[in-house]
Amino acid sequence: MVTVTEARSNARDNRTAAHSHIKGLGLRDDGYAAETANGFVGQAAAREACGVIVDLIRAKKMSGRAVLLAGGPGTGKTALALAISQELGTKVPFCPIVGSEVYSTEVKKTEALMENFRRAIGLRVRETKEVYEGEVTELTPEEAENPLGGYGRTISHLLIGLKSAKGNKKLRLDPSIFEAMQKERVQVGDVVYIEANTGACKRVGRSDAYATEFDLEAEEYVPLPKGEVHKRKEIVQDVTLHDLDVANARPQGGQDIMSMMGQLMKPKKTEITDKLRQEINKVVNRYIDQGVAELVPGVLFIDEVHMLDVECFTYLNRALESSISPIVILASNRGQCTIRGTEDIVSAHGIPPDLLGRLLIIPTVPYKPDEIRTIISLRAKTESLTLEDEALHSLARRGENTSLRYALQLLTPASILAKVAGRQEIKAIDVEECEELFIDARRSAGIVSNGTNFMS
Ligand code: ATP
Repeated sequence: MVTVTEARSNARDNRTAAHSHIKGLGLRDDGYAAETANGFVGQAAAREACGVIVDLIRAKKMSGRAVLLAGGPGTGKTALALAISQELGTKVPFCPIVGSEVYSTEVKKTEALMENFRRAIGLRVRETKEVYEGEVTELTPEEAENPLGGYGRTISHLLIGLKSAKGNKKLRLDPSIFEAMQKERVQVGDVVYIEANTGACKRVGRSDAYATEFDLEAEEYVPLPKGEVHKRKEIVQDVTLHDLDVANARPQGGQDIMSMMGQLMKPKKTEITDKLRQEINKVVNRYIDQGVAELVPGVLFIDEVHMLDVECFTYLNRALESSISPIVILASNRGQCTIRGTEDIVSAHGIPPDLLGRLLIIPTVPYKPDEIRTIISLRAKTESLTLEDEALHSLARRGENTSLRYALQLLTPASILAKVAGRQEIKAIDVEECEELFIDARRSAGIVSNGTNFMS
């Protein structure tokens, strides 16, 4: 018994954790960038150019083309690519990779690229299902023990039951539903749908959302005032083509989307082959034709694109032509360099001219000191860290002299040092101590090339 949400892997979420303050491009209605908006600071021209890209995508004028963000490290290239995906809508896949990632001893490089292409293509499936709707509620030990009830079980040391949305009826839940709830990580106070036929569980929000909906004081939301116990609901599920590949990469399998999903948890997998992908595409196309599903092209972001070789570029060129392709955004901080996999062909950003010709190139520029300051304080706020003014000043200076990335990276260790010293607030001495402990790349390279002996 599994839910579709399990098909989505969140292992990659931590790649975007550093950008959690970014909520979009922060453009005004006239397309110009507000100085600071949606978590974005400065970099106005690049943000505006990205806004045009979003318009081109919406007008379906980007097929066969891609974007290149060209600029120094830490100038917000990843943040811009993420913001483009956010502007395209919620649940639009964003798949960030680094060029060098495609090289492994196990998987062919073009295969690795293909996998990431499919991670960046979403599928939204709409299905109408019979569901129970209810709020997860804490039970008293007596209630849980009640032989007539049978609805209480222990999950993470909490006795929970399901209170129906209508009135206060408590539903009898069988153990498999508890398993499904555990997998969905439901907590007391969550509103869930339990699928009538399969027992799959989907968390749909917090009960205080209901309180707002029905205009009640938050404290009054228990018991819930309205709703039905058993109803037909349109359930929308967002998965990626890669999720479907993985779910089906085992011998036997059904042909409908739900059974494709259902196979995910079985550990024994076979390889994802071209044949399997073709099969999946066929099913997906059928669902699209029937109006059950729609494709949601997302953003595939390839950082350090000069690490790709000529074979990968050929593949990229071809993949861009495909009718189902994500938006491809490349990034590079190199100028002229040799195209990897060739002896001596030098090209801008190490990208072959045929691909360069398809690119819309957007430059990113280094930040001004006050922008660095604002970004650092934004990040501190997002991480719930308090910085005294002097510490912020000190970090901002590091940002200017080395890189924004380095300054941001010092934030967390500095907060740990502050905590060790029994303080909530990060002080300048914490930053300085961190700077002695963790050097930036340039200083590190300097030490090594100066022949400074690490052993002494
Ligand atoms: P690299 O070339 O090293 O991959 P990058 O150009 O992709 O770097 P990012 O990773 O986007 O740079 O930026 C570094 C950090 O600074 C991230 O946490 C990012 O969210 C933040 N950041 C960068 N630019 C801005 C900005 N203009 N406004 C707010 N935050 C920003």
